Amino acid sequence: MRTSRRLAIVISLLATFSLTFPALTAADHSWGGYHWARTANPFTLQLGDNVGTTWDGYLTTASSDWSSTSYDGKTDSFGKVVLNPLRTSVVTGAAKRNCRPTTGRVEVCNGSYGNNGWLGLASIWLNSSGHITQGTAKFNDTYFNLSAYNNPNEKQHVVCQEIGHTFGLDHQSTSGADLNTCMDYFSNTGSNATNTDSTHPNLHDYGELTYIYSHLETYATVKATAPTKAGPAQAPGFAGDGTPIGASPARGIAYVTDFGGGNVVITFVIWAE
Ligand SMILES: [Zn+2]
Ligand SMILES: [Zn+2]
Repeated sequence: MRTSRRLAIVISLLATFSLTFPALTAADHSWGGYHWARTANPFTLQLGDNVGTTWDGYLTTASSDWSSTSYDGKTDSFGKVVLNPLRTSVVTGAAKRNCRPTTGRVEVCNGSYGNNGWLGLASIWLNSSGHITQGTAKFNDTYFNLSAYNNPNEKQHVVCQEIGHTFGLDHQSTSGADLNTCMDYFSNTGSNATNTDSTHPNLHDYGELTYIYSHLETYATVKATAPTKAGPAQAPGFAGDGTPIGASPARGIAYVTDFGGGNVVITFVIWAE
């Protein structure tokens, strides 16, 4: 019964978004049309810094990358003229333990989350109208402390990607091909450990953000001021929490978990190899 109720929620979400976003094509990498509600562009999304000093530089770089206007005016490969609607600011984290989410912003965390299979994990919470209300991005030191993953390029790739998911971006590719975007599954490990490809967003990521955030709302789920209390539900703390969405490509999968009361959490994981 629980499973069928979850399935019904998934199907109704999909139906809602296919009605709301009929123009999406296979070439797009919007994550289900999910986006933050806001009343004006550009908008600023706060990234709560709960990471240790060894991760701070990667967070700073990713925040700067995703706020970049250097591609504005350029046309991406799908004909989208970029006008980056997004700015991010790194602020003092409020997540405390277990990377607890905070309404209106994204909490960014690292920790030794165990041998659960995932390197990085991003979760977004949706309200009943399908807008993102809060997000978390987590990096698993259990793997990143191993020499196989403990290199700047793999770390930057995963930080950029998990934060990118919290804006509503999906992967551009799940094949492992090198598209030179952090939203691909290229591995900066092994013989590619010194390869700096795929450690930053590319032109199409900014084109996609421009597209996803082209309409405004009459209200905002993005909060500009420091919140005083944490948001409702916990992110799934381990891989496999919730109902899988679609087939699992080699390096990742998405899950949906319905907490009831209009609160749905969707989680993206990137597996260790
Ligand atoms: Zn909207
Ligand atoms: Zn991912």
